[in-house]
Amino acid sequence: MATINQNYMKLAAGYLFPEIGRRVRAFTAENPTVEIMRLGIGNTTEPLTPTVVQGLHQGVDRLACRDTYTGYADDSSGEMFMKQALQRHYQRFGVELQLAEIYISDGAKPDSGNIQSIFAPENVVAVQDPAYPVYVDSNVMAGRSGGYDQQKRLYAGLVYMPCTEENQFFPALPEKKVDLIYLCSPNNPTGAVATREQLERFVRHAQQHRAVIIFDAAYSAFIREPHLPRSIYEIKGAAECAIEINSFSKIAGFTGVRLGWSIIPLSLVAEDASPGVLNQLWSRRQNTLFNGASNIVQGGGAAALSEEGWRECGYLVDYYMNNAAIIKSGLESVGFSCFGGTNAPFIWLKTPGGMSSWDFFDFLLRETHVVGTPGSGFGPSGESYFRLSAYGHRENVEKAVAAIQFRFKR
Ligand SMILES: *Cc1c(COP(=O)(O)O)cnc(C)c1O
Repeated sequence: MATINQNYMKLAAGYLFPEIGRRVRAFTAENPTVEIMRLGIGNTTEPLTPTVVQGLHQGVDRLACRDTYTGYADDSSGEMFMKQALQRHYQRFGVELQLAEIYISDGAKPDSGNIQSIFAPENVVAVQDPAYPVYVDSNVMAGRSGGYDQQKRLYAGLVYMPCTEENQFFPALPEKKVDLIYLCSPNNPTGAVATREQLERFVRHAQQHRAVIIFDAAYSAFIREPHLPRSIYEIKGAAECAIEINSFSKIAGFTGVRLGWSIIPLSLVAEDASPGVLNQLWSRRQNTLFNGASNIVQGGGAAALSEEGWRECGYLVDYYMNNAAIIKSGLESVGFSCFGGTNAPFIWLKTPGGMSSWDFFDFLLRETHVVGTPGSGFGPSGESYFRLSAYGHRENVEKAVAAIQFRFKR
């Protein structure tokens, strides 16, 4: 008799974006002529850049010829040219990596969901609150939480580290003993970026307690201020206590193409793992359950990291950051309190009059036809906040901002 993984039943709270979809469909069914403007899901909209397209074409051409054709890679961790491109990329911000520390993957979401599997079920997990939902949900599925508390809107057994206006949306160190610490900077959803000092505090804490930081840097290319760290390995000691996960999705428009990477340092340690062990476990996990990222797509990824490719990705980032500036200044001009939007493609705003996140979602949809994302969907500390994403074509962003300004002008 087969039985199910009961941990999945704890996820009853539901995934955020299907609920948004449901409410938007209900609204459009009643208002079929209304044009909906989407500033909700963080999905890229601008086409791939010329150098990346060329890299992808070359990837296809290699497979079209017997002499250069490749099938399964010997090792799932990625093509040599791709790892070398990443090694050079990290040198752009002064980080030296060994090739054996680089694992190419099909994205940062799968990696940040799968990484927990190399750690014991007893590990206590700490997450930034609010957070990208995968960190919490993957650990709930793996049995590292108790049930979902409807009242407090959190899972028992997980340690939530509140990120609020009072702490500039970067958490204080956990008070209890924790083993795995998820950090994301620049942050989705708040748009906040960790400073060097803030990361140093967490790295020191992790070293002292033999905890491991899982650092999601999916938006590192959006950092504008030169003094802010782009990689956790810019912090001394991080290679002993931190895994970094990153992606081409938001940098190069690979949300549908699929390519990411994780860094598992050879010097990374845990309570019962000497240097090299965690790296070996991840290698074992990937070689067992993953057959490597697409060889064609890796051609595109390496092209994105080339001199010219990286310059072009910079233009893409500029485009989205100009959208962010338009949203932020537009909303501030009608009295909204906005955060983020300067080193990340998200604007995190306080709902007017302390409205709940979902009430504001419904209100905004009804009154302006703009779809955003309720902050409470990212964790209890997101309540009464709301996320607007800077992804979108300029003209749509401008229309959405104009609609909000019209409704809220004083
Ligand atoms: C979009 C996003 C990812 C997902 O990256 P993929 O490589 O597309 O899977 C990971 N982390 C955060 C915080 C994101 O917003």
